[in-house]
Amino acid sequence: MKLDVSRALKTPGESYPLDAEQAIAPQDVLGETVTFDPAKLRGSYMALEGGNVAIRGTLTTIAHARCANCLAPAHADVSEPFEELFRLGGDPEDSEIFAYTGQEIDLERLAMSCAVLGLPMRFLCRENCSESPAFRDADVDVCLCQEEELPGQRPFAALKQLLAQQAGGSADQSDKG
Ligand SMILES: [Zn+2]
Repeated sequence: MKLDVSRALKTPGESYPLDAEQAIAPQDVLGETVTFDPAKLRGSYMALEGGNVAIRGTLTTIAHARCANCLAPAHADVSEPFEELFRLGGDPEDSEIFAYTGQEIDLERLAMSCAVLGLPMRFLCRENCSESPAFRDADVDVCLCQEEELPGQRPFAALKQLLAQQAGGSADQSDKG
């Protein structure tokens, strides 16, 4: 969204509350598509002498991607502080700076870069889905995080049970024999 800073420009040095919502386009992060809920930007902004505008606050949103382990849908809360200076009349194509012209500041690029900065290292569908990457690697079709819902259907559990039964059976036989 566009932040109207016309009032702030008339009163440099005076702080105004920032409470904005900004949609963030899906982002390609290391080959994975990450989508975002509309982000909330809360904080304050202040015009400086010369027309530059300082904006600071915290961005919060929920990011959605696939679980790094089992590829199930996963999401993560994002809460990322920001503090940026928007330069009046700066080159809007310059990715090194934030710039604006007129009396409105477009918050889209700030929100996008801030949301990406706040992404977790990896998305997980649940906390303990990360506990068995070796197991996952050995058999990519099976993910523990889903199997845990149905313990009776876990192949390892079934195998363990079978081995226990066999051991019990041979023990019985040796007792008789
Ligand atoms: Zn998972």
